[in-house]
Amino acid sequence: MPGRIRNETVERVREATDIGDLVGSYVALKRSGRNMKGLCPFHDEKTPSFSVMPDRGRYHCFGCGERGNVFDFVMALDHLTFPEAVEMLADKAGIPIEREEGGEPRREGSSKQDLYRLNRWAAEFFRRRLASPQGETCRAYLARRGLDAASQEEFGLGYAPASWDALVTAAARKGIGEKLLLEAGLAKPRENRAGCYDAFRDRLIFPIRDALDRIIGFGGRSLDGSEPKYLNSPETPVFSKRRSLYGLDRLRGLRPEVPLLVMEGYTDVIMSVQASGALAVATLGTALTEEHARLLARYSERIILVYDGDAAGRKAAERGAELFTAADLELEISLLPGGQDPCDFFAERGTAGLAELLDRSSDSYAFVLGEVRERHDLADIAGKVRAADELLALARAAANPVKRVLLLERIAKDLGLGRTILEERLADLGGPRPAGPGEPRPSPVPAPRRAAEPEVEEVEAPRSRAARRAEKQVLEAILNGAGGVHPWATRLVAEDFSAGPSRRIFGLLARRFASQESCVADAVLSDCEDEQDRRVLNQLVDDEDRGEILARQLEGAVDFLVRERGLRELAGLKRAGVTHDNFAAVVDRLKAAKSGGAAAENETKGAPPARRPDRTERVRTEDEPSPAAEFAEPEEAWELGEEPGWSGEGGDDDLDYF
Ligand SMILES: [Zn+2]
Repeated sequence: MPGRIRNETVERVREATDIGDLVGSYVALKRSGRNMKGLCPFHDEKTPSFSVMPDRGRYHCFGCGERGNVFDFVMALDHLTFPEAVEMLADKAGIPIEREEGGEPRREGSSKQDLYRLNRWAAEFFRRRLASPQGETCRAYLARRGLDAASQEEFGLGYAPASWDALVTAAARKGIGEKLLLEAGLAKPRENRAGCYDAFRDRLIFPIRDALDRIIGFGGRSLDGSEPKYLNSPETPVFSKRRSLYGLDRLRGLRPEVPLLVMEGYTDVIMSVQASGALAVATLGTALTEEHARLLARYSERIILVYDGDAAGRKAAERGAELFTAADLELEISLLPGGQDPCDFFAERGTAGLAELLDRSSDSYAFVLGEVRERHDLADIAGKVRAADELLALARAAANPVKRVLLLERIAKDLGLGRTILEERLADLGGPRPAGPGEPRPSPVPAPRRAAEPEVEEVEAPRSRAARRAEKQVLEAILNGAGGVHPWATRLVAEDFSAGPSRRIFGLLARRFASQESCVADAVLSDCEDEQDRRVLNQLVDDEDRGEILARQLEGAVDFLVRERGLRELAGLKRAGVTHDNFAAVVDRLKAAKSGGAAAENETKGAPPARRPDRTERVRTEDEPSPAAEFAEPEEAWELGEEPGWSGEGGDDDLDYF
């Protein structure tokens, strides 16, 4: 795994990238005072509400709310991860990437760049051979499959000549070393003597590109019937079949509502594009992986597997259904009729074929149900039992417990079996047993965290709207430099913030504060790879110079969060059975228990037994602000959910994420 890109590099790239030029290369922009305006690339609009602020290095759409800096722009439009976005812009700006490695900065080895350059050269070599007299049989094959000249050009198809050393010799003339050719998988070492020979011979060549449009490897189809029919580049430092998809480079700017077809072959992708205008990608001779599923989900909300309708295709589609269910992602499946492969199907039916496939697609569960029905006779007891087990395998795979319960409901309905019995069987199969109506549900209000426990995922009660507003105001003030000298870092802890982005962002700020790094948004955004967190961070950036208001809000918001923490602790004590009357006794007992075992037993007399004694352990942490003072308050003040007098200024009711 490559190390994390150093913050300094990220900052350099951000500073070197002009947001006006960057956005302007995608969208027509007009000057408007200090800013620039244009039609938003993220939503459909007729009058421009998309604003670029060159002096801040940011953009903001007042129509759909998309906002961010140069990295967020290419992440959103080109579906890149944060590190990919940095790499892309670093490349444009000519800035070398430096990565963290065991704390030591290291220049990225030149080998990756060399491999990209070599691959680009090789692709051009193959492309020229396809156009040359040598490429005649290959051109005839393409004509037979119906792949036209425009498609050949668009996908950069080529031909590897029927020779042992055409590429190797040409490379030698260019001064390209054998070592690099071997590393790229373009050549293989000779067995009995020095030198190497071409890895691809007499094959139609498909260059494979990554999301940044770099050539990472090649696929070669044999033309003379020799095996293997398809030969792919081996795994190299720039090529991983588990993580790469053919056709990915053509999806830049794809809107998430556009369906994305997933197929198995290079020609399938090219023909579907040529004949129907569909957007499509293909795996590279491997089964779909979880990495593929996550990658695909970045591009489209509607992923459709389009496989051959033969036994192998059906089996692969079932595996895909399970994989996506396990990754908690949606998948549709649309198999081709009558043993056709996607290439021939699209060549024959064009756009009508695409419409038919979209129309006929079914969700993962419906597809697996159809397959199970084909395999087993549901009127027969043994058949039904096997059908139930196979469908339960899908429910078992579900990462999301809600999804699992919904799947169980559908299985129960489709097989005419009770849900309880299916749950029992699921447990027999070793699956996670979902919480049913008869079982105790997790309490909506969590127990206070016990100090001795390591961090565990707890279901937390949602915080009040006022609390979320206070969280937002605190983060906003700090991120926009309005925090100044305020001692927020000493008064607040991460648990004062709602679990999720809000708490993670506070954690990031506290860490940066502790190591005396800047806590302003630009710097923090260079330190944050998580897309959800970036989204929230961008919402908190003050694009309207509200600095003074933010500074004024900070104090009250911090007070409020500290007070909320106290109230949560009190509520925890109350649930544990502590009352005004027995409080002192419980504290004594716990102190005694801490200082020595048996003696404590005798001292518990005064205190009624707590229902869950372990929960009262919270009391013993003496270095925490004692909630005792709050006990003087009347009973009503114990109740949570009631909002005290504080409310944020500015009437900011649009809490977005918060
Ligand atoms: Zn917009």
